[in-house]
Amino acid sequence: MQVLSVTPEIFPLIKTGGLADVTGALPIALAGKGVTMRTLVPGYPQVMEAFKKKKPVHHYPLLQGGKASVHAVQIAGLDLFVLDAPHLFDRPGGPYGNAAGADWPDNWRRFAGLSQAGGDIAGGAISGYQPDIVHAHDWQSAMTLAYMRYGKAVGTPSMITVHNLAFQGQFGAGIFAELGLPAVAMALDGVEYYGGVGFLKAGLQAAWAITTVSPTYAQEIRTPEFGMGLDGLINMRSVDLYGIVNGIDTEIWNPETDKHLVSNYTAKTLKARHPNRTAVEDRFNLDRDDSPIVCVVSRLTWQKGMDILAAVVDGIVARGARLAVLGAGDAGLEGALLAAAARHRGRVGVVVGYDEALSHIMQGGCDAIVIPSRFEPCGLTQLYGLRYGCVPVVARTGGLADTVIDANEAAISAGVATGFQFAPANAGDFLHAVRRLVEAHASPTVWMSMQRQGMRADVSWDKSAEKYLELYHLLLSKKAI
Ligand code: ADP
Repeated sequence: MQVLSVTPEIFPLIKTGGLADVTGALPIALAGKGVTMRTLVPGYPQVMEAFKKKKPVHHYPLLQGGKASVHAVQIAGLDLFVLDAPHLFDRPGGPYGNAAGADWPDNWRRFAGLSQAGGDIAGGAISGYQPDIVHAHDWQSAMTLAYMRYGKAVGTPSMITVHNLAFQGQFGAGIFAELGLPAVAMALDGVEYYGGVGFLKAGLQAAWAITTVSPTYAQEIRTPEFGMGLDGLINMRSVDLYGIVNGIDTEIWNPETDKHLVSNYTAKTLKARHPNRTAVEDRFNLDRDDSPIVCVVSRLTWQKGMDILAAVVDGIVARGARLAVLGAGDAGLEGALLAAAARHRGRVGVVVGYDEALSHIMQGGCDAIVIPSRFEPCGLTQLYGLRYGCVPVVARTGGLADTVIDANEAAISAGVATGFQFAPANAGDFLHAVRRLVEAHASPTVWMSMQRQGMRADVSWDKSAEKYLELYHLLLSKKAI
């Protein structure tokens, strides 16, 4: 089976979020299951620098305002089609904006260009290559499915995965004339959205199947609260809507071999977590004692409930836990958390910044990781927490609800609990969960059972890749009809 994946990000070449992890991991997880996945990515500087021999397999005299070509290359074990279009992608800064974080004003053109190339490849533009299925990700590649639908590849099954519905790619109607789509596409059941052009909306409309990154998020986005204006359309398409949780790279995230840890351990040698705990105490200037260390590794934003965290710091300390926060984002939240650390020396420590190595040590040394998100399509840090015996305390939403088993009485006596859930994401319920965590931590038998149960959970890509494969087969069977 040949699957063409079209994405604005892929790990390890270019990453701003979980989307890159998924598009980087899926081809590898599917390779052993009879699927050859080739991925079309933009030729950002980081991507162009990663290969020497240019091998153009397709040329555009003009693609969205400039010359472009597609190169077939292999990088880091991934089969890629790289869209070399310097006028669109050869820029400093991030994939979507300049170094200061401001979005490029022509993002619509950049990702229309990527999607147009995706539609062309789906339609057979590259000789000797014909995908059986096209799989797009998020608004930046969603228009691929519109180009397919109004072009040659109308009969090729397609899928779109929504990693976060908050980002939709909505633009004014004025751009339509430059997209190269037929006039009929500017319609309610096409790319038109509230009088403008909606990239994600167009993809949701055209896709043969829609997936999100957890079953609970798939249900949540059907409601006005989480649907971000697209719930009506998503409900109309609900028969074709699926939720598949993300996996994690269980080689990079393996407490037995993780090079970032001070001390490696397994579920059988949990005591060996102790030196990591001491390292966390040192790094965050925390008192050395036996009280639980609760950690946070997160973007500091409203979505992640970091304002709620800032509001409950005093309560966390009052309940006898210590807090270690690693994060960056909203300047107001950074300030509030740093102020809380100054108020509670020895009990609360905050490191502002992005630090991959420290995030591993925290998972390997802290007792619990708290994730009070208002919405969370899947979430990764709770999965790392499970794998590292760092018990997750999560808001019951999206992928957090699907991956953590709450330590209620029944779950504790059955020995299946892996963490704590609370809902809704507010200060009172958050603190109630912290109280439950402190109580459970006081019983070493209960606590170790939860740690071990979490470490036994299958958080690898294997099961999820199997589910994507089942869906691909379903789409191929629809094509046959
Ligand atoms: P999102 O993609 O919405 O930010 P996820 O939980 O899906 O949330 O993924 C976040 C990823 O970024 C995780 O791998 C997490 O460990 C990492 N991360 C977030 N903030 C930091 C930080 N300050 N330092 C190191 N890693 C971080």
